[in-house]
Amino acid sequence: MTTFDLVVSNARIRQANHLAHLGILGDRIAAISPTPLNGAIEIDAKQNLVTESFVDGHMHLCKVYTYRSFGDAANTEYAAGTMGGAMTGIELASKIKETYHESWIYDNARKAALEAIRHGVLHMQAFVDTDSKAKLEGIKGVMRVRDELKKVIRIEIVAFPQDGLLRDPGAEAFVREAMTLGADRVGGIPWIENSDADAEEHIRRMLELAKKHNARVAMLTDDAGDPSLRTTAMLATAALEHGLEGRITSCHARAMALYPEPTFRRLAALAKQAGMGFITDPHTGPLHLRALDLFDQGQAVGIGHDDIEDPYYPWGRYNFLEIAYLASHLLGAMTRARMEDLFDMITTRAAAAIGIDGHQIAVDHEANLLIHGQADVHEVLNHHEAPQVVISRGKVVAETATESTLFI
Ligand SMILES: [Zn+2]
Repeated sequence: MTTFDLVVSNARIRQANHLAHLGILGDRIAAISPTPLNGAIEIDAKQNLVTESFVDGHMHLCKVYTYRSFGDAANTEYAAGTMGGAMTGIELASKIKETYHESWIYDNARKAALEAIRHGVLHMQAFVDTDSKAKLEGIKGVMRVRDELKKVIRIEIVAFPQDGLLRDPGAEAFVREAMTLGADRVGGIPWIENSDADAEEHIRRMLELAKKHNARVAMLTDDAGDPSLRTTAMLATAALEHGLEGRITSCHARAMALYPEPTFRRLAALAKQAGMGFITDPHTGPLHLRALDLFDQGQAVGIGHDDIEDPYYPWGRYNFLEIAYLASHLLGAMTRARMEDLFDMITTRAAAAIGIDGHQIAVDHEANLLIHGQADVHEVLNHHEAPQVVISRGKVVAETATESTLFI
């Protein structure tokens, strides 16, 4: 009988209607069995839910924990009403970049990455400001974190020109240098440019750069309450023109919430044709993209954390289940079937949205697993506690115990 390196016994997995025993060899799931297995190390899941680890497709990792030193001005503008002040908010928030330095960004990003791991996030698409104010300070700090923690968490760094390319003429050279230094993905924020022509030029330049580095693209599109914004569609069209189908992700895309129905349907069909993934973060703004409608059409949609205690959003502690719990309210996902959809949007479907292959509990797939403290998706979301055990590539990397004692 095979002795596995690690066995997770008595696991309730979403894909099966019986208890399963997972045998892990090296970094892979080697067996999923209805009968007990032998392991050098054995963890009893005690009939609790075991799922894939969480995937965060959208985190501004260079800005985490800056809220206390910056205050509320930017967030007041960004989140006001229908987001008319989104541009002002971004301009106010960009002031913090005058103080950017690799050393404190490293400290903050590392702290957030450890919280991510503890809460079961083992893949992260991290946006790092790369422009004439931030220069390469964020890129250098976050790259150090990525490289130090790479055996446990995969951080995909997006070189992100937060203030635009044509609006901020110095930004492009820094984005190019960041990609040469080792950033993983090319970013963009076309909606912030002064005209549609500039937005198209912004997208064209960044897609050319992505092709040069054989990199994926992740952009913030239409992140304001203006129904005339069309940069999500522009990005999809450009991806088709540049042969980058299936290599692009659109984040925020909040204007979609205000589109007339025919405009939404045209965009949904175009995005499908372009294989565009979507990441939504309904808790950080009053508007959000139509995640459930896109999900129901089979599109790759994930939920992102977006911010942690920064000028745009005062909360956040990398508790990804808490983010899904908030999303269940904001998206109106309150049925059992929708809870399962939400779970897909923080695991498997989120992975598809940012180009991570094979993120699924299946034989021969990587063993990135969470053992939760409750037995089903409803209870896990309701409690939104850190998983009891986090397994990254076959190794236990975090354990959390939550117990109270009542003296009654
Ligand atoms: Zn964002």
